Amino acid sequence: MDKRENWFREGAPLLQQVMRQLGIVDRLPTDDLYYACPCCLFAFPYAALEARNLTIEHVPPESLGGKAMLLTCKRCNNDAGRDFDSHAQKRAEFQNMMLGNGTTRPMRAVFEADGIQINGEAQRAGNGWFLQGVPKRNRKEKLDAHEKALRAASERGESPDLKFTIKERISSRHADVSWVRSAYLAAFSALGWRYILQPALNPIREQIKPGSSATLPSIIGYNPSHDADLRQIMFVEEPERLSSVVVRIGHYTVFLPDPWGTWTMEQLAEEISGLSDEAGKVPFTLNGKIVPWPTKPVYSLDTLNP
Ligand SMILES: [Zn+2]
Repeated sequence: MDKRENWFREGAPLLQQVMRQLGIVDRLPTDDLYYACPCCLFAFPYAALEARNLTIEHVPPESLGGKAMLLTCKRCNNDAGRDFDSHAQKRAEFQNMMLGNGTTRPMRAVFEADGIQINGEAQRAGNGWFLQGVPKRNRKEKLDAHEKALRAASERGESPDLKFTIKERISSRHADVSWVRSAYLAAFSALGWRYILQPALNPIREQIKPGSSATLPSIIGYNPSHDADLRQIMFVEEPERLSSVVVRIGHYTVFLPDPWGTWTMEQLAEEISGLSDEAGKVPFTLNGKIVPWPTKPVYSLDTLNP
C-alpha cells in the first residue's frame, strides 16, 4: 500500500472515533470514512487520494530539510508553499548568506558605483561577495556607465566606492507563519485529532489557512545557537507558567496550547512576553516530558483513549 493510503486508513477511523467521543460526529458524512485536512478541517473521502486532493506534506517544508510526515489537502499544501514557506526559505538563505554559511543561491541586489545604480545579484563567496549585474534587468547604457565608473576608479588606483543593497522580498511575518504551521502539523502528527480539535487551536488554523491575513500573537522564538537539525516536541512542565506544547525545529521554537486547556493562545503569548528578558528574548530553559518526533501520524493522545 502506498504511504498516503496507509495514512488515510489509519487516520480516518480515529477521526470518527474522536468526533464521536467529543459529541460532534454528526459533522461528518455517514456514508463512508473521512479524513480531515488538519489545516482547514475539510473532510475528504477515500476517493480524494485517487484524485490527488490529499497530498503528502513535509515537516518542515522539503526546501528547509523536512521529511514526509502526514496528509494535508492539496490546496492547503500548495498555498502554504507559495504564501508562507517561500518566505521562510528566502529568510533562511538570507541568514545563511549574512553568516557566511555555505554557498547560497544569488540574491537580487542593487549596486551603486559613483552614484550609478544597476540591478544585479549578490552571492557570498568565501569571506567576500560575488556581485554581478544582470543584463536583462538593466538598460545597456546604465551597465556601461557603471562599468566605466568602476574601471576609472581602479585606474586611479582607488578601490571603487561600491555599495550594494539586497532587494529580495521577504516577509518575516509570513516566514514565521510557515514555522508555526510546521510546528502545528508536527504536534498533530504526534498527538492526534483530539488535540487539534480543541477550541484553543482555532487561532492557529485561522492563521495558516490560505489567504489569511490574521496576525498571531507572538508564540515563536528564534535561537540561532540551536542545531539546524534539532527536532523536538515537549510538554512543558517548568516554568509552570509556560505550560504548553513546545515544538522546536532547528532555530525556531513554537509554543502551542497544551492538551489540557491551561491557556488560550492569547494567554500563552502573554505568559511568554511576561517571561521575556530586557532584550525581549524568551528564556529557552524549559523542562518537561519529551514526545518522540513523529515520522508519520501516531495520534498518541487519541490511542490512549480508545
Ligand atoms: Zn486543507
